[in-house]
Amino acid sequence: MTFDLRIQPDVAELALRVRAFIDTEIIPREGELESADHGLSPEFRRELQEAARAAGVFAPTVPVALGGHGLDHRAMGPVLEECGRSLLGPVAMNCSAPDEGNMALLELIATPEQREHYLEPLCSGTIRSSFSMTEPAPGAGSDPRLLATEATRRGDDWLINGRKWFITGADGADFSIVMARTEGGATMFLVDGDNPGMRVEKRLPTMDKAFSGGHCIVEFTNCHVTEPSILGELDKGFEYAQLRLGPARLTHCMRWLGAARRVHELATAYAIQRRMFDDRLADLGMAQQMLADNEIDIAASRQLIWNAAGALDAGLSARTETSICKTFVAEAVFRIADRSMQLCGGSGTLTDHPIARILIESRAFRIYDGPSEVHRMSIAKGAVRRSSRGELPGDWQ
Ligand SMILES: Cc1cc2nc3c(=O)[nH]c(=O)nc-3n(C[C@H](O)[C@H](O)[C@H](O)COP(=O)(O)OP(=O)(O)OC[C@H]3O[C@@H](n4cnc5c(N)ncnc54)[C@H](O)[C@@H]3O)c2cc1C
Repeated sequence: MTFDLRIQPDVAELALRVRAFIDTEIIPREGELESADHGLSPEFRRELQEAARAAGVFAPTVPVALGGHGLDHRAMGPVLEECGRSLLGPVAMNCSAPDEGNMALLELIATPEQREHYLEPLCSGTIRSSFSMTEPAPGAGSDPRLLATEATRRGDDWLINGRKWFITGADGADFSIVMARTEGGATMFLVDGDNPGMRVEKRLPTMDKAFSGGHCIVEFTNCHVTEPSILGELDKGFEYAQLRLGPARLTHCMRWLGAARRVHELATAYAIQRRMFDDRLADLGMAQQMLADNEIDIAASRQLIWNAAGALDAGLSARTETSICKTFVAEAVFRIADRSMQLCGGSGTLTDHPIARILIESRAFRIYDGPSEVHRMSIAKGAVRRSSRGELPGDWQ
């Protein structure tokens, strides 16, 4: 299926405004991330968000009624790509994971009370959130059916018990969307950060450092929640997880493509000014191949992103499109960062150089939001299914 992927003038204008904002206000402050332990302090986050508000680029994915720009998925493509050129961009513009995906899900299924209590302050950047799904082995990871955290009824209320890990932003989050097993499947619960039954055990020592609140182990011990804490309908958690993950992994691709463009920009600039063997590095064949392969990976990633965005905007589930896109982009971003580091020689390996930082930060993207192998498994199953129905796998229609 083909979609109209032309960028509208107002979207192009916003994307260029974001580019200028990132270049002038955000990139100069990147050094402050290097000196941080993990993530941004609440004050630093607030300052960056104020700057984004003043520049008119705050909350691009949030509906207009809630104070955002109300972009559809195709319009998000260029805007989030520009935003992702700095690892600080998504936080500044309030479109970072996991808040962005949580806002999109709440917008779809929250009750009016839940909207007022959780969605509105999340959209305005007043609060932060997390999404609690993954558990240590033998619990849910690549295979969500292994979900072990349980919610059991106590009269009209619920008690959640279990242990989660790698929960991004959990330390300091004002609430979490928690997946727990219930009698008829899985259910999502909204758990407030100050609920005494939910405890952040510790931040994990992950290799990245750009996410507010880090990635945490979270324990649920007789965590008491009431019926209105259920997000959406009882037992429909797995369905909602799919609803959240498709668009959320696409916005991840958009942001990481921006980061890949940034390292390519830096490597190209280095190759132009660096002289060796009586020539510019940029004019040496093996360097040209790396620069060209970066361009190819960027162009292919962008087309896959925009195509999947078109499918979502057309009201399709776009599961295959987002899986193909996520697998390709996550791997392409790492290839681009790796080539760019090679082009920059020793300087690119310095941990306070944006190339090294982005190479380190982007590696985990091949694991979260579905490891490449899980996506390849579901893409292959889809192809076999279509072929068994007499359709052509890989068809353009
Ligand atoms: C930085 C970071 C942030 C994260 N943030 C969150 C978060 O906010 N909330 C949350 O709930 N989770 C989060 N996660 C967890 C993430 O979603 C899981 O790590 C991921 O789903 C993989 O699960 P696992 O770690 O248990 O690995 P496992 O399930 O043990 O998988 C291990 C490996 O098995 C391989 N594999 C999987 N399936 C197949 C297959 N079919 N065939 C062959 N090989 C296969 C893959 O290479 C995979 O990496 C985050 C993870 C990281 C690293």
